[in-house]
Amino acid sequence: MNVRRLVKKNVLRLNAYNAREIPCRVKLDANESPYGFAKSLKNVSGIHTNRYPDPEATALRMIIAKDLRVKPENILHGNGSDEFIYYLVTTFGGPVLYPVPTFSMYGIISRALEEKIVEIPLDTAFDLDLQKILGLIKKKNPKIIFLSRPNNPTGNCFSQRRIQEVIQATKGIVVVDEAYLPFSDQSGFLPFIRTYKNLIVMRTLSKIGLAGLRIGFLIAGSEIIREVNKVRLPYNVNSLSQAVAVKALKDKKSLRTVIAKITTERKKLFAAMDKIPNITPFPSEANFILFETGNAAAVYSALIKKGVLVKNINDIMKGCLRVTVGTPRENTFFLKTLKEVLAKNW
Ligand code: PMP
Repeated sequence: MNVRRLVKKNVLRLNAYNAREIPCRVKLDANESPYGFAKSLKNVSGIHTNRYPDPEATALRMIIAKDLRVKPENILHGNGSDEFIYYLVTTFGGPVLYPVPTFSMYGIISRALEEKIVEIPLDTAFDLDLQKILGLIKKKNPKIIFLSRPNNPTGNCFSQRRIQEVIQATKGIVVVDEAYLPFSDQSGFLPFIRTYKNLIVMRTLSKIGLAGLRIGFLIAGSEIIREVNKVRLPYNVNSLSQAVAVKALKDKKSLRTVIAKITTERKKLFAAMDKIPNITPFPSEANFILFETGNAAAVYSALIKKGVLVKNINDIMKGCLRVTVGTPRENTFFLKTLKEVLAKNW
C-alpha cells in the first residue's frame, strides 16, 4: 500500500524541522544552555504517575505570573513555545507574515496547516523593512505576524519603534517571540500587553537551562488567552516538567548566574571570533552568534569531523553558520577548532 498517496499534498511538500542528533564532543547547534538545573530534579515530590497532570499548570503559572508581573489569567502554558505556534495558527489562521531569515517553525507550521505565508526579507541591518511590511499589511491583511526578538538566527533585536508601528498598522495579531530576551539588554514587550489588544508575547524556559522539560508561555490579554486555550491539548505539560520547573524557577540566584555567565561568554566569544581572519561574526543579543565564512558547508563538515557541532544555515543565509555560546572550555575548543579548519579551507 502506498501510504504517501493518502498524505495531504501540503504535508508531502514539507521538510521536517532538522533536529537530527549528530553525536559530537561539543554540541553548539541548538541554542541550549550549557548549564542545567540538576538539583531541581532532586526530591521532586507530590507526583502521582497514575493521574493526569494539572491541566491548568496552576503552580507553574502562578510563579511565572509573579516573575513577569502579569496576572495568571494572562498566561497560557505550552509544551515548549513551539506548541503555541501551532495553536496560534490554528486559532487565527493565515495569511501568516514574518520577516526572513527567522525561526523556521513559523513557516513549517503555517504550511502544515495550509495557511498562506508572506515572507519579507529583513533590511541590510537585519532590522524590519518597515515600509515593505506596512505595504504588505495593507495588501495581504495578515491574520498573524511573527517577530522573533532577538531574532534567530541573526541575533539582533528589531527596533522597538518599528514593531510598535507594525502592531498599530495591522488588523491582525502580532506575536513577539522573546525566546532569547533574557540574554539581551533591551526591554521586552510585556508592558505593552495592556496597551495593544492584538499583541502576544511568547517566552520559553528552553534557552535558560530547561530545554529538556519543554515548557513555554504565551502572555496576552485574557480574550486572546481564552480563545487559544480552546485549541490547547488538555494535558500538554506533564507532571514532572511542571514540578521540576517550579523548583528551578524558585532558584532565582542560579537562573541569574547562568544568564550572566552566558552573556559574559558571548561577549568574549564574539571578540575572539572578530579577530579571526576570513570570518565575519554578527553582533548578538542572544545565546548564539551568527557568522559568515567562505565555504560554509565545508567548514561545517570539517568542524563535525573534529568534534564540534554548530548549526548550518547556509540554505537560508548563504555562507553562514550559527554557533551557540557554550561553557568557557567549549568555546575555547570551538575557537581552536574553527581556526584549524579555516587554515585548511582557505
Ligand atoms: N522561538 C525561537 C525564536 C526559537 O529559536 C526557538 C527554539 N529554537 C523556539 C521559539 C522554540 O523554543 P521551545 O523550546 O520553547 O519550543
